[in-house]
Amino acid sequence: MSKLRNFLRGPAGKLLAVVVISIGLFVLYLNGRSLLGESQVASNSRDRIFIDAESGKAFEHRLQIGDTYPIESPYTHKKTGYPAELCYWTKDGQRKHDPTPVLLNQYKGKKGPTFCPDCGRLVVPMNPIGQSAPPTEADYKKNKKGDADDREDSE
Ligand SMILES: [Zn+2]
Repeated sequence: MSKLRNFLRGPAGKLLAVVVISIGLFVLYLNGRSLLGESQVASNSRDRIFIDAESGKAFEHRLQIGDTYPIESPYTHKKTGYPAELCYWTKDGQRKHDPTPVLLNQYKGKKGPTFCPDCGRLVVPMNPIGQSAPPTEADYKKNKKGDADDREDSE
């Protein structure tokens, strides 16, 4: 036991202590970095894209406790900001990186499904980023009609 104490008091022991403390600090540093990274992601997810229903312009807004929809738009300074759905598709059915923010018809008080003003494809609430492109307005109407024609379980 006294041998160990002597060792720790000696130069080799001090070196060992320094190494152990360094490793400890490095681990703390890594943990801190990953924690920081996570909180960064979390704060990004609170930044949502909204659309001003009057001007049709998109803007970013950080959600806060107590926010109710619609939120105040920086363009009209009125409560005309609605959460945007993001469309990641192009007209020819390719994925794109910069999504188009789309205002859903339901927020405009319009009936019927919403189609992206950019690519003309179907946009739904909580728009999923699916594997294949959503139907265009023409396809959607065609399919709707097809569904009605060969619907078997109704009646
Ligand atoms: Zn689109």
